[in-house]
Amino acid sequence: MGDSECVFCAIVHRGAAASIIHEDDTALAFMDHRPVTPGHLLVIPKAHAVGLEDLDERAGAQVWLVAHRLGRALRRSGLRCEGVNLFLADGEAAFQEVFHVHLHVFPRFTGDSFRLDADWRLRDRGELDRSAEALRLGMSRLDC
Ligand SMILES: [Zn+2]
Repeated sequence: MGDSECVFCAIVHRGAAASIIHEDDTALAFMDHRPVTPGHLLVIPKAHAVGLEDLDERAGAQVWLVAHRLGRALRRSGLRCEGVNLFLADGEAAFQEVFHVHLHVFPRFTGDSFRLDADWRLRDRGELDRSAEALRLGMSRLDC
């Protein structure tokens, strides 16, 4: 999918409607049109990037900064907010559905409908050390 077919790029260029909260040179924040809780918003880089692999690190830092600020703003908004989740899905297997990187920010409260089901069992040190070694290898293979 090129930029011209991307719904989030269309929002950046005002070719699609959105309830915009914040805009700066790098990032745009707007309401998710299918909120898991009232106040659920998305922060995106204005320059098209599919995911973490092609996202400029400085743009990613700005996306995080805006999400951090808006997470704090949620608690002062009057919307029900007892907690906040920041959630980024990178890749189809991670439940990414729109292939323009986006960071979800949404308020949480007791009894809301959001669930994250996983196997949270404790793992032995050997397994954790092997994973850490794999990650150090991955870091050494980054070209930045
Ligand atoms: Zn896009």
